[in-house]
Amino acid sequence: MKRRVFIGSGLAAAASLAMPRRRLFASMLPASPLRRQDVMAVTGDGRQVTLPWAAINELRSSIRGDVLLAGDDGYEEARRILNPSFDKQPALIARVTGTADVRQAVDFARDHGGLLTAVKCGGHSSSGKSTCDRGMMIDLSPFRDVRVDPIARTARVTGGSLLGQLDHEAMTYDLVVPMGTVSHTGVGGLVTGGGFGRVARRFGLSVDNLLSVDVVTADGQFRRASAEENPDLFWGVRGGGGNFGVVTSFEFRLHPMQRQVMAGQIMFPLARARDVLRVYGEYGARAPDDIQLDFVMALPPGGAVGAVGFNVCWSGDPAGLDRALAPVRAIGTPIADDVKAMDYVALQRSGDINDPRASEGYLKSGFITGITPGLIDAIVNGFAGHPTRSTALFCQHSGGAINRVAASATAVPQRSALGNLLCFVDWKFGEDGSQHVEWIKRFWSGVERYTDGFYVNDTEIDMTDAAIRANYKQNHDRLVQIKNRYDPTNLFRLNANVQPTV
Ligand code: FAD
Repeated sequence: MKRRVFIGSGLAAAASLAMPRRRLFASMLPASPLRRQDVMAVTGDGRQVTLPWAAINELRSSIRGDVLLAGDDGYEEARRILNPSFDKQPALIARVTGTADVRQAVDFARDHGGLLTAVKCGGHSSSGKSTCDRGMMIDLSPFRDVRVDPIARTARVTGGSLLGQLDHEAMTYDLVVPMGTVSHTGVGGLVTGGGFGRVARRFGLSVDNLLSVDVVTADGQFRRASAEENPDLFWGVRGGGGNFGVVTSFEFRLHPMQRQVMAGQIMFPLARARDVLRVYGEYGARAPDDIQLDFVMALPPGGAVGAVGFNVCWSGDPAGLDRALAPVRAIGTPIADDVKAMDYVALQRSGDINDPRASEGYLKSGFITGITPGLIDAIVNGFAGHPTRSTALFCQHSGGAINRVAASATAVPQRSALGNLLCFVDWKFGEDGSQHVEWIKRFWSGVERYTDGFYVNDTEIDMTDAAIRANYKQNHDRLVQIKNRYDPTNLFRLNANVQPTV
């Protein structure tokens, strides 16, 4: 579809009144000869293309947001994502403010040979999928809004929103929808991949609480998807990541929940790691839905004195807390036990990263369905301290309501996991991180055989098609059919990519 702009008409003059002031002044100035150049870019399948200056200008004047090229004000900030290891330079960045802008950007990418297209919401992708070199970034961050209907108990959230805004707006009515644990994570990426968090064992994954989505698919069309309308697209978006288009609006069902939860850490000396893991395997699998027990094992640099235990969130009746924690406290004398009443929104912000670009990082992860003696050996024997950095092993608790959803009900097939095991090392921005990456790979080589698939939102760089196919299990064939229908040219390939077959 072409949406031409007729410059010089009265309509254009009227439109200029609505232009951001900086852009209006810029359009009055004689453009510098340097800025009048065509831009070289790359397509998704690796071909070089030239983006004519006139076409870029046409895009500029047809969207409300900004179109940024290298050297423009705001380009350096917009191109960044959370992990500064991914220092990429898109040929252009469309900073979109609404669905109309998203449509224009998608049309532009498609009409120029199928530009390599990255979609950025919160920028948390651990494998850097939300940015790219010499392609187009569709930056959704100016497109943030949350509207809660406390009577209907629903929330509408625009595609660029961060989860902290949703938590904040919903909790003012004592309502909640399961989201992740760091408030500056994007709803766009988190939810399309699944969405694990502190109350997901009680209410299901984020995707299990979706009522509908609005999507701009690769043909630039706006589509509403729900159980009744475009149900195949609705099924695919719930776990298929950004494979089918850009979600411009999410509609969630909300649940009543008291604002105050009981949360904190219960930690033991590292020497108790085997006991802690055994209890996790036994109790974690049958614990009440109201408790979230995220396993944590951490070593400071050099591995001097480490600790092992749990991050706890109890969202049920406070009177039931002691009973729910009894198996954990029976492990022995803790070195810390600070579980106390906390405001849920504050808890959701408590892990936020103050200076997110100060360190680079590398992650290995996989779902575990239980804790076997072999896994305990692999963890305890392999988790040696790193010489210069602190290291952490974490397991985000699954089960409960998450696992009561059938593996074929959404595109997320991992419905029998005890949790998502993640090992993470970070290092100071600018340092050579190769030794840290090697360390984590060595550790993970002993653990990986005990994992069963991985969370698509933790997909690694250069994950093979075979690995993605295997990970989606029985759901992969259906995802391919949906991909063939809504993105047959694979415009949206920077994700856990489902490759089209048409
Ligand atoms: P982005 O990097 O902006 O986007 C990632 C990908 O999502 C994009 O490449 C695109 O393919 C897709 N995408 C983004 N927005 C849209 C949209 N509107 N429409 C279609 N596709 C879109 N996960 C959990 O489940 N629970 C957690 O508690 C959790 N905690 C985390 C904490 C941290 C510090 C980090 C770094 C990650 C965490 N994650 C967690 C993983 C998280 O779910 C993924 O990193 C997710 O991709 C982040 O979404 P984003 O929008 O911030 O990322």
